[in-house]
Formats: sequence, structure tokens, C-alpha cells
Amino acid sequence: MKRKAVLITGGAGFLGSHLCERFLAEGWSVICMDNLITGDLSNVEALFADPAFHFEKRDVTEYIHVPGDLDAVLHFASPASPIDYLELPIQTLKVGSLGTHKVLGLARAKGARFLLASTSECYGDPLVHPQSEDYWGNVNPVGPRGVYDEAKRFAEAMTMAYHRYHGVATRIVRIFNTYGPRMRLNDGRALPAFMSQALEGRPLTVFGDGSQTRSFCFMDDLIEGLWRLLNSEESLPVNIGNPSEMTILEFAQKVVALTGTKSEIVFRELPEDDPKVRQPDITRARTLLNWEPKVDLDTGLARTLEFFQAKVLGGVSPGGGRD
Ligand code: UDP
Repeated sequence: MKRKAVLITGGAGFLGSHLCERFLAEGWSVICMDNLITGDLSNVEALFADPAFHFEKRDVTEYIHVPGDLDAVLHFASPASPIDYLELPIQTLKVGSLGTHKVLGLARAKGARFLLASTSECYGDPLVHPQSEDYWGNVNPVGPRGVYDEAKRFAEAMTMAYHRYHGVATRIVRIFNTYGPRMRLNDGRALPAFMSQALEGRPLTVFGDGSQTRSFCFMDDLIEGLWRLLNSEESLPVNIGNPSEMTILEFAQKVVALTGTKSEIVFRELPEDDPKVRQPDITRARTLLNWEPKVDLDTGLARTLEFFQAKVLGGVSPGGGRD
């Protein structure tokens, strides 16, 4: 039987690379496309030995051509951490808008299923808590985070238009804070920042007073949710995340306890428009996909710590194309 084929944009990134592995394990052939601005070839290095794996260094905001059949297109390309998209505002807007248009066009031409990696950032600094998919959000379009949030909101609108107007089988996942091996040490997000600070004996930098909340999902759970969503018939957005919510100060304290570091916690200025609360309502994912997270924070953090220990203590320079 012919192998199914998937194109994964952003395939050399944190989530993209785990997705490449999952599809190979399911017997698919995988085209991994990445411009390596924030992705890192070391994330997919081990996959090059597999004849079903193909890598293409390409910017998906430009015309993309893929020979042969495609059964699915997963659009995961985008800078995804606040410092990345503040540093790369135009690229972030382009990949969410022009890039989404290009890959939707490709999915349409190939008759492929399309999955958009959207985000809890669509809810902005939410006035409804927890966030369910029918909440329209509270986003500042002209603030520094607007480049990411509005690009993703546009991407969702474009995806729904291709679904409604062109009949493309589309799926939209709103991903909440996800963590795990292969996050970039220096991507500026809370977990890589706290873990590298703890392992290097530097102070952990909590922004604001640390009372803002997030809900952290281990990547294995997310990947399973994505797989189920792609295979479902749901075209409206679905939240995938772990509803277990905590303050950022509690999260920093957890990393201190887990690593046994002597580092102290220091407080730094809160970035503009930093959401005060965030927690997914996963009723839709539970009902439609029979999905819920399985990995608790202690287990997930321990697995992530092993990865960061190897990176920090192994003296490897932090991953990422821009280093
Ligand atoms: N944060 C922090 N210290 C850091 C990095 C992040 O206190 O060194 C805070 C950040 O202000 C936010 C939360 O941790 O409130 C999660 O930030 P992250 O960048 O991981 O993701 P976000 O949910 O903001 O996209």
C-alpha cells in the first residue's frame, strides 16, 4: 500500500520535529519544511537516516511547490515565543498571513487535509476565564504581541474561508503553553528561561509580581491531541492544553525545587500586554476527540530537565537558527 504523505511547515521546530517523528512512526512519509530562522536542524538530525523523511529549507511565505501527492498539510511555521516575535515582527506577520495562504493553496491543489497551528494568544488578555473556543478574545492589535496574535487570528479566518469557500478539509488547533524537550534554551519563554537559569546558578527572572497564571501542557499530550484532531471531522477551532493552572511564581518555585538549585528568584518588569490569566477549557477536545492530558507537571518537568541538563551541562550552544 502506498504510504500517506504529510508536509509539516516549521518541521524543524520544537513541536514540528515531534510531529515529524509521530507521522514517521505512523508509517507516513514526511516532508519537513523550515527556513531555520527559529527552527534547528539538530531537532530532526536523527530522522535523516529514514528514507521516508525529507527536509527542505524553504520560506513558506514564498511560492511553494511540492511534487507528488499530499494527504495532509500541517502549518506549524512561525516564531512562537514572545522574544522571537518581538525580534521578528514582520516575518511573524508574513508567515501567519502570506504563509498560511500559500499552504492552504497547496492543500487545496493536492486535495489534502489541512491543520493550522493556532494559539491561545487569539484570546489575548482574556476577560473570560477559563477560555472556551466560543470566546472571541481581547487582543491589542497595535501592541508588541499583536504581530503574533493578529497573524494567527488572520490565519484562522483564512483557514475558515478555504473551508467554507473551497471545501478544503481544515482543522484548527489553539495550542496553550506547551513544554518539553527541544525547546530552545534561549527562546525567552518561562520554562527554558527558568531551567537554564537554575542549572547555571543564575537568578530566576519572574516578570511582574508573578501572579499571572499559565497552564502548562507536556508535548506528548499535545501531539496526541493534534493527531486526534487531524483525524476528526471538526473544522471549528479546538483548544488543546492542560487545564492545570498555576501562577508564574509557583512555576518558578517548582523549577527551583526540582533542580535543587541555590538560585534565588528575582522580579523583573512585566512585558507589555502580558496576559494576566490563561487556562484552557477543554470540554470540546474531551467530547469531540476523547482527549485529555495524561502527563502531570512533575513527570513532564523531569523529562524536560533531562534534556536541558544535557544541553547546559554538555556545553552545547543553545539551539536555534539565529544563534
Ligand atoms: N515569564 C517570566 N520570566 C521569564 C519568562 C517569562 O516571568 O523569564 C513570564 C511571562 O511574563 C508570562 C509567563 O511567564 O507571564 C509565560 O511566558 P512565556 O513567554 O513562556 O509564554 P506566554 O504565555 O507569555 O506566551
